[in-house]
Amino acid sequence: MSADPRRAVPRTDTLLADPAVAAACARLGRELVKDAVRAAQQRVRDGRLAPDGAVAAVLAALPTTAGSLRPVLNATGVVVHTNLGRAPLSPAAVEAVVAASGTTDVELDLRTGRRGPRGEAALAALLAAVPAAEAAIVVNNCAAALALVATALGGELVIARGELVEIGDGFRIPELLEATGARLREVGTTNRVALEDYTRALGPDTGAVLKVHPSNFVVRGFTRAVPVAELSGALAGTGVPLVADVGSGLLRPHSALPEEPDLQTTLADGADLVLASGDKLLGGPQAGLVLGRADLVQRLRRHPLYRALRVDKTTLAALEATLRGPLPPVQEMLAADVEGLRSRAAALAARLVAAGVDARAVDSAARVGGGGAPEHPLPSAAVSLPEPLAGPLRLGGSPVVGYVADGRTLLDLRSVPPACDGDLAAAVLEVARRWT
Ligand SMILES: *Cc1c(COP(=O)(O)O)cnc(C)c1O
Repeated sequence: MSADPRRAVPRTDTLLADPAVAAACARLGRELVKDAVRAAQQRVRDGRLAPDGAVAAVLAALPTTAGSLRPVLNATGVVVHTNLGRAPLSPAAVEAVVAASGTTDVELDLRTGRRGPRGEAALAALLAAVPAAEAAIVVNNCAAALALVATALGGELVIARGELVEIGDGFRIPELLEATGARLREVGTTNRVALEDYTRALGPDTGAVLKVHPSNFVVRGFTRAVPVAELSGALAGTGVPLVADVGSGLLRPHSALPEEPDLQTTLADGADLVLASGDKLLGGPQAGLVLGRADLVQRLRRHPLYRALRVDKTTLAALEATLRGPLPPVQEMLAADVEGLRSRAAALAARLVAAGVDARAVDSAARVGGGGAPEHPLPSAAVSLPEPLAGPLRLGGSPVVGYVADGRTLLDLRSVPPACDGDLAAAVLEVARRWT
């Protein structure tokens, strides 16, 4: 018998023929499994792994899915967190996505066997939720909606200087608009704009008047803006459409967020088109919602650029289920009352303390996120842990992202679905056990 471990390295085809490894090949693809096989062989060669442990090592190293995006528990207290994929889809939306993932009747009328309007049911659900709209289309995101509007209505876009917004990660709305070839006609000053500023700026080249919700900041003090109702009254009879980018995706007024504009009210106030993100406060898939006057929506739909911006079948499925199904997680998180959050935090802290973890329940302040309601903290509750756990929690088997404040790691529960409290406790226990 040889003592040289290299002679005992299991062959690739032997490892791939193991029934569990072969099943993994069928599920994850051969290349991904082969990477794990090569890594295990190397460890045997280095003498760090016994040859008969190779199969188990291959299986342990395999990811759970062929994609590398991993589920993360969002304990940041930011309900719509852009870096964590914004809105978590509702179970109903996830089911609809799975159902639509194969071949599906997205553009076929099964009764006649002929081509049908694409995504008709999702659009009908959108119109049912926003009765002030005559028609709607859905594009990739709100930035795409702005690009389509600027391209199709074009010419000169009249916009207040105080609404030339940077949304985040260097994305500036004025730069996007100009990238389409449209020209911006800026009116007013940073803090003040009057109705006459708008009306004076109208001319033969005006394509639209654009109002953009500042979303992620507020201007206070000596300020003035022109409400949609006033602006639409002044534009009546000029033929110039009023387009309002409300950003947040709130369909109707929300009692918890009194300052956020919503699609229904903005249209009822006289906007000709409204634009919003589907994955902000609506809590659905990433999408750009465009609703309003039928002739303008038709103009956008007929524009060649629409084809480049339209959404796929899974987005349409998720959007429809978000609109027609039970309240999506984002809406539930926004509506959660603080007493319920406090008792969840107390129960979790008690469970962790019983296992020897330095944990306590504390009050905290959550935020809407997604560029919404920047001045509107939501009362919340958190589990407070030793500061050095923040990193290990992110890197654990089930990653948890919280935040550090005053020398403690806080896990805010407003952004965690209640059904995930058990997973959260298990993730903390796993990390705390290794750390202490
Ligand atoms: C977030 C936001 C956008 C961009 O929306 P995406 O869906 O991320 O493209 C545009 N306008 C406003 C006012 C926003 O708040």
